[in-house]
Amino acid sequence: MGQNCRPRIAVNQKPEVYLSKELIRQRVSELGDQITRDFAGNHLICVGVLKGSFIFFADLVRQIDLPLKIDFLRASSYGDHTESSGVVKITLDLSLSIENQHVLLIEDIVDTGTTIHYLLKNLKLRNPASLKFCSLLFKPTQVKNQVPIDYLGFEIDDQFVVGYGLDMAENYRNLPYLGKINPRG
Ligand code: 5GP
Repeated sequence: MGQNCRPRIAVNQKPEVYLSKELIRQRVSELGDQITRDFAGNHLICVGVLKGSFIFFADLVRQIDLPLKIDFLRASSYGDHTESSGVVKITLDLSLSIENQHVLLIEDIVDTGTTIHYLLKNLKLRNPASLKFCSLLFKPTQVKNQVPIDYLGFEIDDQFVVGYGLDMAENYRNLPYLGKINPRG
């Protein structure tokens, strides 16, 4: 790649493995089995929160052995990436109606809980038959808004993780594992 094509931030640091792809694959399979059992006999709408959940979402829906539809929404919380301001806005809304449907909201990570608290409240107003929430990751030390996580991949300590869909300034989403970043790296 030519000098002019290089990203302006340093992304040459190879993130240390925090959760391996084998461990993630195993847990996603367990979550899929659990969701399949819990929703047996029903149709589902799986809603992914962009962009961070896209890889988890794609892996998880393939482990759910039920008739389902998929949809996406995107939310932004004002403030910088590490400090959420508490004001959330939907920047891409669902294309499907979820009224009287069984809905599973799928997120990458719950940090302060602000984003998902807002999204669950917003989706409830659309009168789904049921609304459950699945998150790949949860940082209990950061939580400001209690959110019921019906299906959780992993509880993690307070560090910035990237990969498996999660980014740092839009980089690292394609890493097949979850890595941790040394902020001074
Ligand atoms: P919350 O509203 O729960 O504070 O923030 C959730 C959002 O913050 C996530 O969807 C994600 O975009 C971002 N976030 C929080 N912690 C991390 C982290 O450790 N790594 C990455 N890549 N994003 C994070």
